[in-house]
Parts: sequence; C-alpha cells; structure tokens
Amino acid sequence: MLDLKMYINGEWRDSRSGEKRDIINPANGEVIAQAAEGTVEDAKEAIQVAKDTFESGVWSDLPAEERASYLYKIADKIEENAEELARLEVMDNGKPLREAEFDMADAAACFRYYAGLINKPEGVTYQVSDPVQSIVVKEPIGVCGLIVPWNYPMLMTVWKVAPALAAGNTIVYKPSEITPVTPTKLFEMMEEVGIPKGVVNMVMGPGATVGNAIAESHDVDLVSFTGGTVTGRKIMQAATGNIKKLSLELGGKSPNIIFADADFEVAVDYALFGIFCGTGQVCAAGSRILVEESIYDKFVDRFVERAKKIKVGPGLDPETEMGPLVSEQHMEKVLGYIESGKEEGAKLVCGGNRITENGLDKGYFVEPTVFVDVTPDMKIVREEIFGPVVVIQKFKDEQDAIRIANDTDYGLAGAVFTQDGAKALRVIKKVRAGITWVNTFHNTYNEAPWGGYKQSGTGRALGTWGLDTYQETKQININLEVEPIGWFKN
Ligand code: NDP
Repeated sequence: MLDLKMYINGEWRDSRSGEKRDIINPANGEVIAQAAEGTVEDAKEAIQVAKDTFESGVWSDLPAEERASYLYKIADKIEENAEELARLEVMDNGKPLREAEFDMADAAACFRYYAGLINKPEGVTYQVSDPVQSIVVKEPIGVCGLIVPWNYPMLMTVWKVAPALAAGNTIVYKPSEITPVTPTKLFEMMEEVGIPKGVVNMVMGPGATVGNAIAESHDVDLVSFTGGTVTGRKIMQAATGNIKKLSLELGGKSPNIIFADADFEVAVDYALFGIFCGTGQVCAAGSRILVEESIYDKFVDRFVERAKKIKVGPGLDPETEMGPLVSEQHMEKVLGYIESGKEEGAKLVCGGNRITENGLDKGYFVEPTVFVDVTPDMKIVREEIFGPVVVIQKFKDEQDAIRIANDTDYGLAGAVFTQDGAKALRVIKKVRAGITWVNTFHNTYNEAPWGGYKQSGTGRALGTWGLDTYQETKQININLEVEPIGWFKN
C-alpha cells in the first residue's frame, strides 16, 4: 500500500490534521494507497514557502538554460519510469494501459518542449518617436497555484508544471483528491533531479478547502485550473481579492459533424474514438454527434453495432478497450444522466447500464451508451456528462449543422468529417470552439494552443501561448539622450 505525503519546502509531510484518504482502484474498488488529507493551514504554509522561495531568486534568477537542464532531466526520469508510472495511472484512474502509456510519453515530451522553448524567445524592440529605446521583456509571474482534475492525473499536471517552471515561477500544486498517485511520483522525480527546495510544493486535500485556499490567497499571483465549469466559476470569484491572473480550462459538450460525403467508415471510427476514448471522461469528447439526414439511419446502425463490441474491462487487461469510470460517485452521476435521458423521452439505442458481469461487479463500469431522438432542451444534450454517453442528432444542411453545433454554452472543441475541403473549412471556421479537427479527432500537440471559447474557459495551455500564461510582460524604455526634459520652466 502506497503512503502518499505532501511535499512542502523540500520535505515529505503528512497533513497537520493527521487525516488520510483512501485511494481506490476504480476497476475493483480496492484501496491502493492512502493520501494525506491536507488542510487550509497546510495550503497556507506551502504558499508562504513558494512566496519566500520566489523572492529569494533561487529559481527565477537562474539562467533560462539552467532551468531548462532540470526540465530535460525530469523528462528523462519520466521515460525511465514510464512503465511503472503507466501502471500506477491505470490503477488510480482506471484508463486502459495503452492510454496511460501515451500520457507518459506526452508528459516527457511536454517537459522537453518547454525546456527547448524557454531560451528561444526573441527580444522585441520598438522604433518610438522619442530618442528612447523601447524593449519588451518577459518575466515570471511569481507564485502559481496549479489545480488539476482526475481524468489525466499526470498529463494535466505536466501541462501546467512544465511551462510554469520553465518561466521561472514557484508552484503550489493540488492534484484531484482521488488521483494523487502519479503526481506524487512526479514530485519525487523533481526532488531527485535537484529542483531547489521550496520551488515546487504539493498539497493534497479537498478542493472546497485546500483548493479554495489557493484560489483566494493574496500571495498567489496566478491560478491555473483545469476542471469543471461550475468549479471554474467559484475559482474566478475567489480570485478577485488580489486580481489574480487566471487560466481556466473547463468543460465541453463538443459537436462532431458528419456530412454525407465523408468517408463513412472513417467517420464512424473517429466518432467512436471521439466519445469512448477515456471512457468519455475527456473534456474535448465528441459527445454530440451531428449527422446529415441522408445517412443518419445508416450511421446510427453502424455506430451502435461497433459500440456494442467495445471491450470494457480493467485497464491492466491487454484486451481492454474502455476502462471503468473514475469513482463510484462519478458512476452514479453518469447513470443519473442516463436516467434523465430516458425520463425526458430520448430513445436509448445502445447500453445504458452498469456492467457487473464477468468479475466487473466491484468496479465502476458503464456500457457505451447511445441516445437518439433527442431534443435541444434535454439535459443529456446540454450538460457535460463526462462519461461514455453520446447523443446522435440529425441535420439538414451546412447552416443547420452550424446552428446545432453552436447551440451550447460550451466552446471547447469540434470536428467536421467531409471529403469536400472547402466545406470543411467553411464549417469549422463557424464552429465557436478553440480546438477543432477535420477528418480526425482528439489530436493534441505540445506546439498548439489548447483552450476554449465561451464557458469552456479562458486562456490557452501548451505552445508559446502556454508559456505566456506563466509570464508577465514588461516594457523597458531607455532614454538615449540623457538631458533634462524641461517640462517645468523653473
Ligand atoms: P472539478 O472541477 O470538480 O475539480 C477539479 C479540481 O478542482 C480538483 O482538484 C478539485 O479538488 C478542485 N476543486 C474543487 N472545488 C474547488 C474549489 N472550490 N476551489 C478550488 N479548487 C476546487 O473537476 P473534476 O475533477 O470532476 O474533473 C472533471 C472536469 O474537468 C470536467 O468538467 C472536465 O470537462 C474538466 N476538464 C477540462 C479539461 C480542459 O482542458 N478543458 C481537461 C480535463 C478536465 P477535489 O476534486 O480534489 O476536491
């Protein structure tokens, strides 16, 4: 059994309250670890340490290349330990092993990307009207509060830690209280490569107390949060006290638009991947499939035929294609949405049940679930379910597809499937979302910006945009003719 402690000022510590939380394997309900249940006082101490460490300059004053050298070493460590990390991720989050293996490879690549980027920025100078040289420099923001969800425990952590460290900030990080295992391993690796004490600090515990303490602290300069839109709204409110910088990566209800002229089998294949990868617990999941009416019935038949064949099971079984939901509580939430779909009159054409056969009764498994004959006001059409549940809607033409696609409060992602390149571009340009795909789904690159329109968040992760998030921009104006200005005569 793993004993997970918090990491504050270079020391591994239990919570001040001494309380622990059981960490459960969602495939079988077994306790795999116990984690420190942190308190507001623990969070305050970690924030003070991060503030003092930032002000000491031990990290922010290092040459960028030297900071980068630590990031490269962390990437190496992740790769050296990738097999163990992937297995731990499966046991904590439930995802199939091959998904966890991708996450670890992506995590190492993300550290390398920011290690490579940090000493590359070019200076900016301006020709201004005075005899002044105006130059622009980037500086770290200070103390960054990083709060992440449970669906990609390692990768979401790295998307924040790597650019924040590259930019020279210090960190107070909080994992989801149900998936702290691989984040703890990451902090162990950061200790091993010699990141100076106090630069990276990890507190555990409930979002409502520990997370909120980070969001409202006057000594935290930025909060970068990934999670649900409801929580994002609370964080925005908590952050007003000291006008914190905010980066919010929130939920989605993303449309996947399939035209009659698309390659049919490719579209079906990606539509399945779009919703059922990650058991639907992916912020960018294609949870609303929109299909042109002339192929609608054929599409639904084929989609359901293939959805029924998806192998659901424990993530460590090499045959498994879709794992359990992350927790019993989340499974109940997803089953509740399925009930609401039935009550509101949608037609269930696939799945809809918890799976308890073949030794899966102790885990939190739900069948791939498909609803048709939905109306725009139904909860299953409007709200993010974050599970293996999809609605398939019918559209008449391009304008109708765009209208339905944008009929949502969210704006995270969207996709179009068609063999007509001009139509693909026309439609995707009209989809109000930050991450879009044509004839593909879910591709994510360290180089490209990640984030949403509307209530899917504010700011962008990854790429140069992700680095900007963790930097302040300063203008420095240098007088080249040092003489009195003569504004006042006497
Ligand atoms: P939550 O919003 O419930 O939680 C996310 C994190 O915020 C957790 O660490 C949680 O703590 C913490 N938290 C909860 N309440 C507060 C608070 N009042 N103040 C500060 N922190 C708080 O999301 P889930 O963990 O349930 O994750 C699922 C959600 O995340 C989905 O809606 C999904 O769309 C979104 N998401 C978005 C992504 C994106 O890139 N846009 C990527 C991945 C997920 P704890 O749970 O430990 O109590």
